[in-house]
Amino acid sequence: MPHSSRKLVTGVLLLIAMGALIGWFYGRPFVGAFAATLFVLVWQLRQLVAFDRALQTGDFDRFRYGEGIWQRIYSQFKYERERGNRYKREYRRLVKEIRRSTDAMPDGAVILNDGNEIVTCNRAAKSLAGLKRRKDRGQRIDNILRDPRLTDLLEADDATQTADIPSPVRDGYWLSCRIVPYGADQKLFLLSDVTERIALSKMRRDFVANASHELRSPLTVISGYLDTISDDDRLPSDWLQPIRQMQEQAWRMNRIVAELLELSRLEAAGRADTGDVVDIAALFASARKAFQGQAGTPSIRIEAESMARLRGNSSEIESVISNLLSNAVRHTPADGEVVLSWRSGPGGGDLIVSDTGEGIAEVHLPRLTERFFRVDRGRARADGGVGLGLAIVKHVLGRHDATLYISSKAGVGSEFRCHFPTERLLVGPPVPLTGGSHSR
Ligand code: ADP
Repeated sequence: MPHSSRKLVTGVLLLIAMGALIGWFYGRPFVGAFAATLFVLVWQLRQLVAFDRALQTGDFDRFRYGEGIWQRIYSQFKYERERGNRYKREYRRLVKEIRRSTDAMPDGAVILNDGNEIVTCNRAAKSLAGLKRRKDRGQRIDNILRDPRLTDLLEADDATQTADIPSPVRDGYWLSCRIVPYGADQKLFLLSDVTERIALSKMRRDFVANASHELRSPLTVISGYLDTISDDDRLPSDWLQPIRQMQEQAWRMNRIVAELLELSRLEAAGRADTGDVVDIAALFASARKAFQGQAGTPSIRIEAESMARLRGNSSEIESVISNLLSNAVRHTPADGEVVLSWRSGPGGGDLIVSDTGEGIAEVHLPRLTERFFRVDRGRARADGGVGLGLAIVKHVLGRHDATLYISSKAGVGSEFRCHFPTERLLVGPPVPLTGGSHSR
């Protein structure tokens, strides 16, 4: 037992004993002991009341009453309360500091709970996206910022992904959104102003589209004259070769212009017009028909489930198949094989074009889909490659929520796999494998 408690117990017992002794003098020891006990009780009661007032007011000095054990209780409580207040002050200062620094950030930051409801946000979130810290607390972020790209981002739950959406409060402004999970089930929703980047890329796109468009007419005139001249019997024989070369280059320029225009169109289109029913098996059949039988072409085999159908844009998927097949055919010797296949499973569908051709060295793989990238420029020029085919494929796939995976080994062959998510697949009655047209 601590010293103060021992003192209290001894004091109380002594007081009762003294009461009993005084009572004994008067022949009533029990009355004396009872009176002493009552005194002790009233005394302790007073101390308790005083302590309660001290607790209520928090003023432990003003209501301090009693000694020994009560002194200790008062001191301990005073110390704890002061410590608590100190922590509270420190915590408030820290919260204020954090809020001030997040408010000073040029980027918007919103804390979301696991139901994507707003917990709090900084000042930039208000100026960029019109979010209000108090009013919007508890609201779902996708109810306030209504954009399918944001909904997709929330569903993807991938911190590396971003989505560009127009600002709901400032016309012509664009915001880049990103979601970073933290803690047990909270997320940081980050917003940054990317208006300048979007405007620059639009300028670049418009410039390429306009320049390509403007080049088209003079090119048509040049090609037309070259065709007429080459058909003319009066053409001196030593002019034949240069004219043929000029024709080839004009044809190449026409192809570059056409592919650049196609890329600009795809970039500007976003996700529009990708809701048709695309019959993969029919597209495979017509693509094979277009390529098979040309001199030096390897054999082309089709492996497709007859019900292979997906939701997309038929002519764009046709362009994907034809670009991949054209590449495979051009890079595979006549005794090799090209396989067009479609596989689907619970994870989605894969459109695969594989070949047993020359393959691509691993160092080039990451750059293959860049515009104008060719592994062997000299050769590509000779075989008509302009380096835009895979860029077009990548854009079309992006419009269809699909991803391109390339695996290749130099000297062994290549595989180009286009992976479509389950939402793009259609289940329905089988479509016959034969036939060159595709259903819509
Ligand atoms: P290109 O018009 O030159 O074919 P692409 O963008 O379609 O342009 O392809 C880029 C480069 O990738 C090509 O120049 C070629 O070197 C390489 N490539 C594409 N497909 C294959 C393939 N199946 N086998 C080997 N190399 C390929």
